[in-house]
Amino acid sequence: MFTYIDPSVRERLIDQGKLIRIDEFGAVTDPRAAPGPGARTISVLGPIPLPLERHGRHYTVDWYAAVRHTELNKATELADALRRREGQGSFALLADSMAVNSVLVMGDPGKWKDPLVRVHSSCLTGDVFGSGRCECGPQFIAALERIDADPAGGMIIYMSGHEGRGIGLWAKAATYLLQDAGENTYQANRTLGLPDDSRDFSDAASLIRYFLGDKPFRLLTNNPKKVDDLRAMGISNVTRVKHVCGVGETNRGYLEAKRDWGHEFGDEDIS
Ligand SMILES: [Zn+2]
Repeated sequence: MFTYIDPSVRERLIDQGKLIRIDEFGAVTDPRAAPGPGARTISVLGPIPLPLERHGRHYTVDWYAAVRHTELNKATELADALRRREGQGSFALLADSMAVNSVLVMGDPGKWKDPLVRVHSSCLTGDVFGSGRCECGPQFIAALERIDADPAGGMIIYMSGHEGRGIGLWAKAATYLLQDAGENTYQANRTLGLPDDSRDFSDAASLIRYFLGDKPFRLLTNNPKKVDDLRAMGISNVTRVKHVCGVGETNRGYLEAKRDWGHEFGDEDIS
């Protein structure tokens, strides 16, 4: 299931430059060296060509999978233990402990000038099922379309651990029931004793630095807090670009709650 389970495959991928490790500042580090205590490093696998087709359009995308090295190490240790005990049936449990983020690159990062970037939080109900309770699905497709059509190119960083603004899918399901009983999306989080927004963008910041260095870029988001979070992590050359899409009867109240909370768009964007 995991290429890293077989050390010879891992070595081969490192030799090919397809398994690398970056530090929190996006600098490439030795993938074979043990990171120092407290070091936050990310292992990155790719590029993996992905032929995407959404809504009848084709996109040429290079996919990179990214996981925190500490999480990968824990999984590797467990995998070794399971292999010794021939516990194959338990291997699927390993994946649960790892948030594997994705980077979808469109174009050649070496040639990018002021590219478009979307840091997209995973949303199973919106992105995969096509739910109209939120606008995540249309935002994802529109990001693909906008980056593909932009001469500067760019990338989508897909944050897999960000379901429900970081509270997880189970709690998100509970907030939907609370919302149907009259609460808005933020009140429902608070009723559950959870933060309004608990997303951690530090891995996204490291990946932006790896792919862009200090180049300026445009971030597709309506959420100034996302820009502030990236700036707090030293990402300064970022310009926010409004990204309102998929507005309909089923999500207008949700979007109004987001605007009241601080997202920036006008009445005309959601009417
Ligand atoms: Zn969503």
